[in-house]
Amino acid sequence: MLRQYELVEKVKDYDPAADEAMLNRAYVYTVQKHGSQKRASGDPYFSHPVEVAGLMTDLQLDQETIMTALLHDTVEDTLATIEDIEANFGPEVARLVDGVTKLSKIETMPENERAAENLRKFLLAMSEDIRVLLVKLADRLHNMRTLHFIKKPEKRQRIARETMEIYAPLAERVGMYEYMREMQALAFRELEPEAYVTITRKLEELRGADGGQVERIALTIKQALAEAGVQVEVMGREKHPYSIWQKMSERHVSFEQVTDIMAFRVLTDNEADCYRALGVLHMTWQFLPGKFKDYISTPKTNGYRSLHTSLMWENSMRVEVQIRTREMHQRNEFGLAAHWAYKQGDKPDGAVGWLRDLIEIVDTSHDAEELLEHTRMAIYQDRIFAFTPKGALFQLPKGATSVDFAFAVHTDLGLATVGAKINGRHMPLRTPLDNGDVVEIIKGPYAEPQLSWLNFVVTGKARAAIRRAVRLKERAEVATIGSKLFDAISQRVPANVGKKAIRGAIERLGMDGPEDLMFAIGSAKISDREVMEALVPGCTAELEDDDQWSRRDHAISIKGLTPGVAFELATCCHPVPGDRIVGLRRKGEPVLVHAITCLELANGVDSDWLDLSWGKRSQGAVGRLRVTLYDRLGTLAEMAGIFAKAKCNVISLDQTQLEHPFTTYEITADVQDLAHLSRILSALRASDAVAQAERI
Ligand code: MN
Repeated sequence: MLRQYELVEKVKDYDPAADEAMLNRAYVYTVQKHGSQKRASGDPYFSHPVEVAGLMTDLQLDQETIMTALLHDTVEDTLATIEDIEANFGPEVARLVDGVTKLSKIETMPENERAAENLRKFLLAMSEDIRVLLVKLADRLHNMRTLHFIKKPEKRQRIARETMEIYAPLAERVGMYEYMREMQALAFRELEPEAYVTITRKLEELRGADGGQVERIALTIKQALAEAGVQVEVMGREKHPYSIWQKMSERHVSFEQVTDIMAFRVLTDNEADCYRALGVLHMTWQFLPGKFKDYISTPKTNGYRSLHTSLMWENSMRVEVQIRTREMHQRNEFGLAAHWAYKQGDKPDGAVGWLRDLIEIVDTSHDAEELLEHTRMAIYQDRIFAFTPKGALFQLPKGATSVDFAFAVHTDLGLATVGAKINGRHMPLRTPLDNGDVVEIIKGPYAEPQLSWLNFVVTGKARAAIRRAVRLKERAEVATIGSKLFDAISQRVPANVGKKAIRGAIERLGMDGPEDLMFAIGSAKISDREVMEALVPGCTAELEDDDQWSRRDHAISIKGLTPGVAFELATCCHPVPGDRIVGLRRKGEPVLVHAITCLELANGVDSDWLDLSWGKRSQGAVGRLRVTLYDRLGTLAEMAGIFAKAKCNVISLDQTQLEHPFTTYEITADVQDLAHLSRILSALRASDAVAQAERI
């Protein structure tokens, strides 16, 4: 383990301006907070953050990153709080530590591939500052280096799988190939122990037989280039067991058939030397044409630059050669980290965001592919990632709420939602979720999706499911009314209505089932008579038309309306039998019967419109008239006489206007029907006492 002064000296080496006191304080703080906690290795726990900080100094990262590495587990694993960190080390370090803590919280492994891809995206989206991700990757690398100390095989396997599926691809994504390869090598050893042992043993045999072949080839290459006047450094290595194994499984070949076991790196001083070296190698040895790649003129999306070629060595063996400048090499192996470290020379504002870094790369490289990569990153900025309490990850658009989340998990969960806890606290369902929120949906047995949810949900899935549920609920309500009406109807047919009769009726009416029938009755889509006919065909023939559905307790009967459905005659237009009428139905209210000419109908567009007509025996409706009399003695008595002669009972009489020589009255009277009302109006108009008479 690095000692305190060694760590500080390493930082001072590349950054003489670093604040020694601060670094010391962070070191002491982590030692104190982790106290007597132990690692699986038996080492004191604080050795881990110190090693992670050491990895960060290898990348020459700034002091805030080093301090973050030292403190990265204090909030997660000790009593320290973010507030405490901020008070001691300032807001920037607090923000970085908070970022790493958030990433650590979600280390529950979703087993399927889709979830792993989600998690990678989540980690990227969460790492607003690339330094957070770098500390996290170093944390994982150190944990992998010490993986063998963990006793439980299942736990080792889980961590290794997570590393292979999530962290190694992430390291690749940000161009940290060195981290990627080491993580893969360590995870491979855990996940495929037999393959690891076999390949390692074969590599040793090969080495024993050939004795220093890698070094010999490296020297030959270096000399050949020196003779041609190109000064280079050559590094040779055997490939990692994992990459050999990858080739074996990709090509379905045995170890002996994998011919490119050795790889060499040629490091030059400048770009021109790269191409000169390539020319010399291709003239000296035979090369494999399909294997040549120029990533210098066309870098990879993550900024990787190098020339790649494969040479035939002594007619039997292929060797891979990568040619690049030293600077390219540094950037290739440590990706964005190297880029970040380089920039520290001119110390920008110290709080450069992850995205801003990327934008700068794009700006300075003018490369279309990198721009594309940046755009891909930007996509994640519109997404949020939220978790179930068990750690399953769901990706949602920004602005999504607990209701969206519930429907994303499962439609049934959305339908059962009555409330939600976000990060353990009850929150209104309309609360927009934040990245990393843990959402617990509270279910209720009588839950039903609310129409008002449509005001805040953002996902199409939630929207469609809510609409459908509301529609079904309304339908069920109507069907309930319908089944009550059906009970009454079935009393009136000359038979006992049982299951058989109902089945027959459903079939005759061409309905899908009982629910469909009840809905049709409740919504007055079919008449009583049709239902009765369907139940007992021919049974309505002897019924006197209309008689059966005029209402006993009401002198008015209306056709088209199911008996039992409450209705009222509208008081705005006072329809009387004989008027053309329509019914307006609003949920939970009696049907309002209006004259078709009523202006109020314009306000009824959101109601159901029922096409109604008067039943035969309708009578006793209320008529409203406006009568203007000449303002002289006896005219009122004469008018009253006309009503009396017509056997019409006047209910009320209001004087509404007095304008010499006229007096106007508004009259409400019981009338039998429209014909009755018309007779009265004619009689009034014929009278000398009356100047004008009209229906209101
Ligand atoms: Mn850690």
